[in-house]
Amino acid sequence: MRTQVAIIGAGPAGMFLAHLLARDGIDAIVLERHDREYVEGRVRAGVLEQVTVDLLHGLGLADRLDEQGLVHGGTNLSLDGELFHIDMEGLTDGRTVTVYGQQEVMHDLFEAADERGVRIVWNAREVTIEGADGTAPTVRWREQTGDQYEVRCDFVVGCDGQHGVSRKSIPASVQREFERIYPFGWLGILAEVPPVEDELIYANHERGFALASMRSPTRSRYYIQCDIDEKLEDWSDERFWDELCLRLGPEVGARVVRGPSFEKSIAPLRSFVAEPMRWNRLFLAGDAAHIVPPTGAKGMNLAVSDVAILAEAFVEHYTENSDAGIDNYSSRALARVWKAVRFSWWFTSITHRYPDMDGFDRRMQMAELEYIRGSLPAQRTLAENYVGLPLE
Ligand SMILES: Cc1cc2nc3c(=O)[nH]c(=O)nc-3n(C[C@H](O)[C@H](O)[C@H](O)COP(=O)(O)OP(=O)(O)OC[C@H]3O[C@@H](n4cnc5c(N)ncnc54)[C@H](O)[C@@H]3O)c2cc1C
Repeated sequence: MRTQVAIIGAGPAGMFLAHLLARDGIDAIVLERHDREYVEGRVRAGVLEQVTVDLLHGLGLADRLDEQGLVHGGTNLSLDGELFHIDMEGLTDGRTVTVYGQQEVMHDLFEAADERGVRIVWNAREVTIEGADGTAPTVRWREQTGDQYEVRCDFVVGCDGQHGVSRKSIPASVQREFERIYPFGWLGILAEVPPVEDELIYANHERGFALASMRSPTRSRYYIQCDIDEKLEDWSDERFWDELCLRLGPEVGARVVRGPSFEKSIAPLRSFVAEPMRWNRLFLAGDAAHIVPPTGAKGMNLAVSDVAILAEAFVEHYTENSDAGIDNYSSRALARVWKAVRFSWWFTSITHRYPDMDGFDRRMQMAELEYIRGSLPAQRTLAENYVGLPLE
């Protein structure tokens, strides 16, 4: 088998890339370790930046997004129960974010795959990459039948998340890794209840961070900061709702509609970047190259902007005979990645309770939030990062 671009992983990065390449007539194949049900079923991101929304429109895949997505022109911060609003739309010349679950995005990308000639191999196990430092890489995999297959290609793109095979295929001597582990996690639930507020609330409370988010007008997504070694079984729904309401403060807490959760999980928080994002004919995109804590909702959006940059580079290579985009991919993508890493690290640092925080640190957080509340330039800085920096 032969193709132009072999893509490993059918998450947001892999599927956006496959659609962008198919649109421009570049042949590609996507190799995914799991089946469609598994990938589509993962409850993850829910806030799309303008760049991601624009790309879905550009691909003609935004019908359901336009119908069901909740466009948010602002967001709320809360300090010890006192709420204040940031008018993102007014502060960023009309830019917004859209609440639309990652599961819905994946559904739209998978549904359109066949008719657009996007080839996906499900349950591709034991994927290996060979020859990425030469001119003709080969990717091999085993299917459920046990049979082994291979595809020869011009380029390999690792869109296989944090634990995939692609980043590990790059020699350690050419890669540098940067990491920050946060000393807490997020305990999150999904419940079929109306959200407490039309827009998100990021709450800093002396008991810890809380986030009031949603997936639709009838489905809420709530998170509270928890210890890293917290056990899910210790968190009954009742205990979760009580703690959430405390952290959102008496006014908001009293308005929270409670109900049984149908998903509950704990996610660790981490910032991670691997540089460079290219080694010869092997490229990394999305979580394969970087991770951000979910504060600020950047992970999936970064995956999408990486592959938007990369798709442009491949189009230049195949249609204009120029490798300038390919050669610039890593530095161009990393420039955007580091800004998002900074924003999510900063937003985490002003909203969460750290175990070693003393009175001084707490006063610094309060002063920073008070400053944002009273300063339009500070709000503008937050807003332009939150809605997503433009693709440069
Ligand atoms: C609780 C939570 C909340 C989040 N909230 C947000 C949010 O609000 N906004 C936001 O932007 N981001 C959010 N994120 C982050 C976002 O979900 C990820 O950044 C995004 O999924 C990254 O996409 P990706 O395609 O790079 O990687 P992934 O989604 O991890 O996809 C990688 C794919 O590769 C496959 N794979 C792995 N290894 C192999 C292999 N060896 N061979 C073949 N296939 C392989 C995997 O099965 C997977 O399907 C959240 C994440 C979590 C966990």
